[in-house]
Amino acid sequence: MIRIGHGYDVHKLVENRDLILGGVKIPHTLGLLGHSDADVLLHAISDALLGALALGDIGKHFPDTDPTYKGADSLELLRQVVALIEKEGYTLGNLDAIVIAQAPKLRPYIDTMRQNIADACHADISQISVKATTEERLGFTGREEGISAHCVCLLVKKSEG
Ligand code: ZN
Repeated sequence: MIRIGHGYDVHKLVENRDLILGGVKIPHTLGLLGHSDADVLLHAISDALLGALALGDIGKHFPDTDPTYKGADSLELLRQVVALIEKEGYTLGNLDAIVIAQAPKLRPYIDTMRQNIADACHADISQISVKATTEERLGFTGREEGISAHCVCLLVKKSEG
């Protein structure tokens, strides 16, 4: 039994915020604005995992009106999502994510992001794909007003006993 999930998220780029993607703090002049650490990649992944089991989205599970999640570490939120998935009897088959950002260059950080995600998902790095692209200076990502991320995933029912 397999289930497919899709997640999408956007955060605005502003001054005086850290840029954290895939649990990696990346040196940059701008960072993402949000109630939590605004890790847009981990949010898209968390939404894909929840979506695969029709469990809603991270806004439902970790509302931004709740002070508990102010400045929250999105890797910790992802771990909590994975615990929900496992409680339902599922495990990650694989996920494929893409970050859309005009700048900075993300390639040097991709494998660290993949390992962080694999650890949070109790998976091997070979099950985690993270890609980065620009939108050729078009649209809000191209103008460096924000960063978006997409993720699709497959969850696999764990065999009994
Ligand atoms: Zn988000």
